[in-house]
Amino acid sequence: MRTLYINADIYQSNATKFSVQDGRFEAFYEGLPDGDFDEVIDLNDGTVVPGFNDAHGHFLGLMYIARQIALDAVTTLAEVKELFRDEKTLIRASLFNENTFETGALLDRKTLDELRSDIPVLVLRVCGHVLMANSKAIEMVQGALGLKPSDKADLDRGIFYEEMISEVMSVFLDPSQEEIEADLLESEKIAFKHGITSFQTDDFITYPVPYERIIRAYEALQDTLKIRIQQQCHLKTLELMDDFLAKGYPHQRYGRTVMGPSKLLVDGSLGGQTAAMHAPYAGSENTGLLNYSKETLKAYIERLNAVDMDLSWHAIGDRASAVILDAIEESAPRPGHRHALIHAQLTGKEEVTRMQNLNVGAMIQPIFLDDDIPLLKRLLGPKAKDTYLFRQLFDTVPTALSTDAPIVPISPLQNIYHAVTRKSLKHPTWDAHLPEEGLTIAQAIRGYTEVGAYFMRDDELGALKPGFKADFTVIKDIDLNDINSFLTAQVAMTVVEGERVYTA
Ligand SMILES: [Zn+2]
Repeated sequence: MRTLYINADIYQSNATKFSVQDGRFEAFYEGLPDGDFDEVIDLNDGTVVPGFNDAHGHFLGLMYIARQIALDAVTTLAEVKELFRDEKTLIRASLFNENTFETGALLDRKTLDELRSDIPVLVLRVCGHVLMANSKAIEMVQGALGLKPSDKADLDRGIFYEEMISEVMSVFLDPSQEEIEADLLESEKIAFKHGITSFQTDDFITYPVPYERIIRAYEALQDTLKIRIQQQCHLKTLELMDDFLAKGYPHQRYGRTVMGPSKLLVDGSLGGQTAAMHAPYAGSENTGLLNYSKETLKAYIERLNAVDMDLSWHAIGDRASAVILDAIEESAPRPGHRHALIHAQLTGKEEVTRMQNLNVGAMIQPIFLDDDIPLLKRLLGPKAKDTYLFRQLFDTVPTALSTDAPIVPISPLQNIYHAVTRKSLKHPTWDAHLPEEGLTIAQAIRGYTEVGAYFMRDDELGALKPGFKADFTVIKDIDLNDINSFLTAQVAMTVVEGERVYTA
């Protein structure tokens, strides 16, 4: 199969036509192409960029969230009550943010009981690290698990943190492999609509089910799913990690899905004030939560080194970044590793230098600025000036862009807008946060394509070059010299390995 694309505005090229043969870019032409083609596609002056690669998000979670009541645009209790009114058996809501809510507080047990007390209610905070529950839900949890109150399970207030969340969810959710497969196929549609051709995803903890059920679902879809998936394998305990290793899963392939690197949640979130910080949060003694000791992280790294597996670990706070870097530094070095810190938005200058020395990359989410700009000074005081150092990261270590969708919109174009402008759309009166840390448009596109491919260890992906895999995205009404146009431009076509998987 040989296809010619014409009337293309090709990124960083003077060519206006290109050909794709057997899933690979064949040639780019300024003049007339040679030979015969099976088909000719007119792109109507659409802009062609390499397919977007979201370097960290929750692919299965795209549907997990889509099946819940979204509270992101809700600011009053009356509105929440209205949204909860017609639910019959279980209320699952997400994207709650107290910072934009009338009470300025989490929805505690008492508040939720006033909204609905007849059926269980579970509300996830926007960060995904805090779960709020009503009395009915807590009764059911107590009947099944018999929890004791702890710093991660505030039963009186009905608030659960971190790993307690999946424990609580396990009482309510148990999707079958077939249901998971159906969700993955729906998630793929969402990604393609946004021009995303590769997705590096943490799916193992989306549902409180054995991780192998997720792997089996991907295996069953190995001839069906077309998107490239890199599974950031979230194995919360060393026992689970050992189980995964013993079963030979590292680097395992199912069609375009690959297992690896390792994912761990080393700390919490900024909004939940659970990100592990060197200095306490403003006006408190709290320095956040570290979920793993350095010794445990070293035990993971030792196992990963033995099977040549990289790590992509969640680190929001500077102290979380530091402890991961300590663990890497104190473990036997593995040349050629492609380790990364996911998030790294409160990682300070000191840690950025250490990342450079250890060649540890970053998977960053500029779109978090949309929510975080008003929080930084309020929660962190003077440390705010040492956050979101994305230009420093980009200039010194491999730095890929990602959204962490679905906790924020999956849109690459909006994400690039934030990477470049450093502004919040939700809080337009606030100044750009450290504008000198903004990326250029070209850097942001590279972070969304080439660097993503680097972390997938795929050297034939992420660029418009002859011989490379023909993954590309066609965008309408975009001006690559005008960042504001990114907010109104539309994805017109998405192509994976030469196959058109989405057309507007
Ligand atoms: Zn995430």
